[in-house]
Amino acid sequence: MKKTLKDIDVKGKKVLVRVDYNVPLDANLNITNDKRIAATLPTIQYLLEQNAAIILMAHLGRPKGKAVAEMSLKPVAPRLSELLGKPVKFVAGDAISAEAKNAAADLKPGEILLLENLRFHPEEEGKNAAGEKDKSAMDAFAKELASMGEVFVQDAFGTVHRAHASTAAIVKYVKDAAAGFLVEKELKFLGEALDNAQRPFAAILGGAKVSDKISVIENLLNKVDSVIIGGAMAYTFLKSQGISVGTSLVEDDKLDLAKELLKKAAEKKVGFLLPQDHVVADKVDFVNKLVPEGAQVKITEGSSIADGFMGVDAGPKSIEQFAQTVKSAKTIVWNGPLGIFEIPEFSKGTVEIAKLVAQATDSGAVSVVGGGDSVSAVKKAGVDKRITHISTGGGASLEFLEGKELPGIAALPDKK
Ligand code: AMP
Repeated sequence: MKKTLKDIDVKGKKVLVRVDYNVPLDANLNITNDKRIAATLPTIQYLLEQNAAIILMAHLGRPKGKAVAEMSLKPVAPRLSELLGKPVKFVAGDAISAEAKNAAADLKPGEILLLENLRFHPEEEGKNAAGEKDKSAMDAFAKELASMGEVFVQDAFGTVHRAHASTAAIVKYVKDAAAGFLVEKELKFLGEALDNAQRPFAAILGGAKVSDKISVIENLLNKVDSVIIGGAMAYTFLKSQGISVGTSLVEDDKLDLAKELLKKAAEKKVGFLLPQDHVVADKVDFVNKLVPEGAQVKITEGSSIADGFMGVDAGPKSIEQFAQTVKSAKTIVWNGPLGIFEIPEFSKGTVEIAKLVAQATDSGAVSVVGGGDSVSAVKKAGVDKRITHISTGGGASLEFLEGKELPGIAALPDKK
């Protein structure tokens, strides 16, 4: 077990907190969704109660090691200030400038300072000024950040799968470190789902590519009672069984692997549910996310798809079959949509699954949803409040499900 916020002494201390403020901005640099900022309030409020001086560190977008004005964290400070009802200081331009360091040095207990986008520095992501991988440059940057405070709190679940200066390297240069409340909550729900699951345990995996989720499927086959596969991923599995899939998205170089995973599931007696019917279309406009005029859309009789048609969503029989498993599950982990859900005509399977997961949760199941698309699907279905835990980190939650070590967590000291 890693140390968490209440295990370390933060009273009156200068506390560096890594947060995930990678928020969406519109063309006028207004924040269009502040849930990531709101998610950090419990940790910040606790630190304020402890009379700590808080230095917040974050990144926004992909500036690739250069200062990019549109990726400044400047708009975040007033929004955080609004949410907290307290002033938040901000030094524009450079997180480790003399001005930023002075602001950190002058920070009084109960005050908050937000540093500029850390990714304006290539060293944050482990590179030097020439753009080459350079661990010592990353360590030097981490040391500079650490010098501004005394203890470190990791509360950016969205970046814990990255071994960066502010997520992992910094821990070596501070007196003490711990996971913040948000990270603690993520680890609790994801960890309990994986290692302490109430049975039956069902995993629902969808999305575009098998290749992105191979390790997740492999790891979950050791943990779950059933796997439900939807989205384009399903067509690689179906094709590997000799079923025709028309023009559906298939990874032909993953057919053998798909076969192997099906074999492993059978050996482990894990139910492996693939769609038995599909919504298919002969044309899809992926760029504008719509069904082109004159396109034919139909539902197949069985699992095979005619030439010239593409599988775009799970059909009604599949949803019925998936429903049986979801309804009886006591633990559910879901990552990835079951169809091209951005197109309303092809979103039914994903929305139905979202409703089923919510119903199962109402009846006592623990549900964990991760990945940007599944999270928007539960919102679209209006059931987000009924899900046990919605992960704030798509990539991080996927790597957790793969059973991989998360560098931003591994770096933290263990509980005594
Ligand atoms: P991922 O990022 O791997 O979770 O994939 C999400 C994407 O998969 C979404 O943009 C979906 O539109 C896409 N997707 C889901 N089902 C299909 C399908 N049958 N054909 C093509 N794309 C799909």
